[in-house]
Amino acid sequence: MLQASNPFTKVCAVQSLENQSRRILIVDDNKSIHDDYRKILNVSSQDECADDTAMAAFFGEPTEPGSHSQPPALNIEVDSAAQGQEGLEMVQKAIDQGRPYSLAFVDIRMPPGWDGLKTVAEIWKICPDLQVVICSAYSDNRFQEICQKLGQSDSLLILKKPFEAVEVYQIAVAMTEKWILSRKARLRQKDLEKLVQERTLELERASLQDSLTRIANRSKFNSSLDDALKRTRRHKSLTGLLLIDVDHFKEINDSHGHPAGDQVLIQVARRLRSAIRETDTVARLGGDEFGIIQPEANSVNEFRLVLERIENVLRQPFEVSGKQLNCSFSIGIALAPNDSDQPEELMSQADVALYRSKNNGRACSSFYEPKMDEELIQTRKVVAELSQAVEEGELQLYYQPIYSCSDWRLATCEALLRWNHPERGLLAPNAFLPAAEESGLIVQLGEWVVREATRAAAEWPNDVRVAVNFSPVQFHPRFKLFDMIMNCLEESGLAPKRLEIEVTENVLLRDFDLASNLINKLRSAGMSVVLDDFGTGHSSLNYLKRLAFDKIKLDRSFVWGADTCAKSAAILNSVASLGRDLSIRSTAEGVETLAQLERVSKAGFTEVQGYYFAKPTPNPVFEDARKPFPSVDLPIVDGSTNTV
Ligand code: C2E
Ligand code: CA
Ligand code: CA
Repeated sequence: MLQASNPFTKVCAVQSLENQSRRILIVDDNKSIHDDYRKILNVSSQDECADDTAMAAFFGEPTEPGSHSQPPALNIEVDSAAQGQEGLEMVQKAIDQGRPYSLAFVDIRMPPGWDGLKTVAEIWKICPDLQVVICSAYSDNRFQEICQKLGQSDSLLILKKPFEAVEVYQIAVAMTEKWILSRKARLRQKDLEKLVQERTLELERASLQDSLTRIANRSKFNSSLDDALKRTRRHKSLTGLLLIDVDHFKEINDSHGHPAGDQVLIQVARRLRSAIRETDTVARLGGDEFGIIQPEANSVNEFRLVLERIENVLRQPFEVSGKQLNCSFSIGIALAPNDSDQPEELMSQADVALYRSKNNGRACSSFYEPKMDEELIQTRKVVAELSQAVEEGELQLYYQPIYSCSDWRLATCEALLRWNHPERGLLAPNAFLPAAEESGLIVQLGEWVVREATRAAAEWPNDVRVAVNFSPVQFHPRFKLFDMIMNCLEESGLAPKRLEIEVTENVLLRDFDLASNLINKLRSAGMSVVLDDFGTGHSSLNYLKRLAFDKIKLDRSFVWGADTCAKSAAILNSVASLGRDLSIRSTAEGVETLAQLERVSKAGFTEVQGYYFAKPTPNPVFEDARKPFPSVDLPIVDGSTNTV
């Protein structure tokens, strides 16, 4: 029999770790014993406190007479089952309700049904972490036998009948507490596992993503390329690989700061993503280089369409800190399997094509062709040799005269760079200038050109100007172009008004404000600034509107085109009258024939230049120039006799 008085009705010194409901199941065929358990365990429902002595023995003396220190109420719920099977059902129901039992007191003998051991074995099958107290008289079953049958378990305790209330309460508290703690530990472990799993996924994702632009990074790009090429081999489809480079990105960073550069990269990534299909991959491969893989295409034409879309989205200005920034892009494309079906080879072919685009003056796209490999080797060689050329004295300026149409006098000589290559002979600028611009050597070469041209012009008649061509690269503030030119003028003693600065609109394309400030500064110092190759760019007229030039030079293609094309002839007329209306000079360049001369002269150009008069020469002769040309209405002198 249980000694059913509850010693802990009012106070209890047991510190509960968790104030949560502890559900205890009593499985015993003896109905009256259930009430005893309830009295002992269900502390909150009891109000009588007996057996103070037992309590004091176990929990210590009260701090004040008649009272014990106040413990937190243990929220114990007690349920009863009279038979093993019924107990099993209740355990199942509690699990289903999400309120499982933490502890069961199970009697060892419960005729006519299952005995305690069978009951516990069945319950543990569905609820393995339930703490169990087998209530046994040793005569019923020996301890070893019980352990043998149920297995050694730290969830099992054997309590010998008859037992003390204190024992029962103490066991109940300890074992439910153990159940709660191990449950908490399991939950915590699960939480940690989930956290680790999430973090691992996050790291995996991050390892494949570019942290700035949030598109794929190089490592993801490489694996996508491997996959795409495998599919290409299997399905006999085409895969396109595009490499895209922001032109002069370093300058954006230098002049607008790195945050602005980052903004451009983020916007480029966004635009590229918008221009491709779901199945394509776009990645930032590092710095200002992006890559696109377009797998499973059926024809080369599909790549051309995508390329067009990409070029379109990139053409719009970029908005950076409230400022509009124009950027241009160089693109290289290689196709699998046409060019190669091996990832490394295809990458290097796209790279070669990209290099070609840069060498072609940037802002363009090139499809890989096998002959580009040889050209690339050549270009690299050129850069290496060119860096020596200045020191070796291999550079030379040729001068081509520009005549005034009003009196046919020589007005200006344009300095045109030549390279006396020790093996390849005399090279024109198109053979080495792109490589010089790409490598940055143009800054050094450009300075040599200005120094040499101003030095030479200082020896010429006072009324002849010298025109010098400049590359956009030279306009970057870090090269201090203005100071460099002023130095050369000072050294040579040439008056600034005798120097013409020829620029194409590409100079203005990158950073209009910077370039236009510099142009204004040069003009204020007395130099003339000429808009060269007029008509070939995107928005020559727009620049003409926004900025003051001293002269426009119509590109020679219009002069030649006017021979056969009425539209070119119309353009010729309009550009000449545009110059007139703006009160600035206008030059028609590339005049090769008498017919062309008549046409440009009639159109009203103020100056002409071309092989009809003279080819570029290292030693211009000025005596001849003083002889006026006959008017175009008169028989024109033979151009070949007028080598200046
Ligand atoms: P550009 O400024 O348009 O110079 C005119 C080019 O047209 C020169 O080619 C000249 O020889 C050529 N040309 C002139 N009249 C005729 C003609 O009647 N018929 C034909 N077929 N061609 C004619 P060049 O000397 O080969 O120079 C090519 C380009 O290289 C120049 O074009 C200019 O943009 C650039 N360049 C030349 N020297 C320099 C330099 O010192 N610095 C820089 N940055 N660029 C230069
Ligand atoms: Ca020029
Ligand atoms: Ca030109």
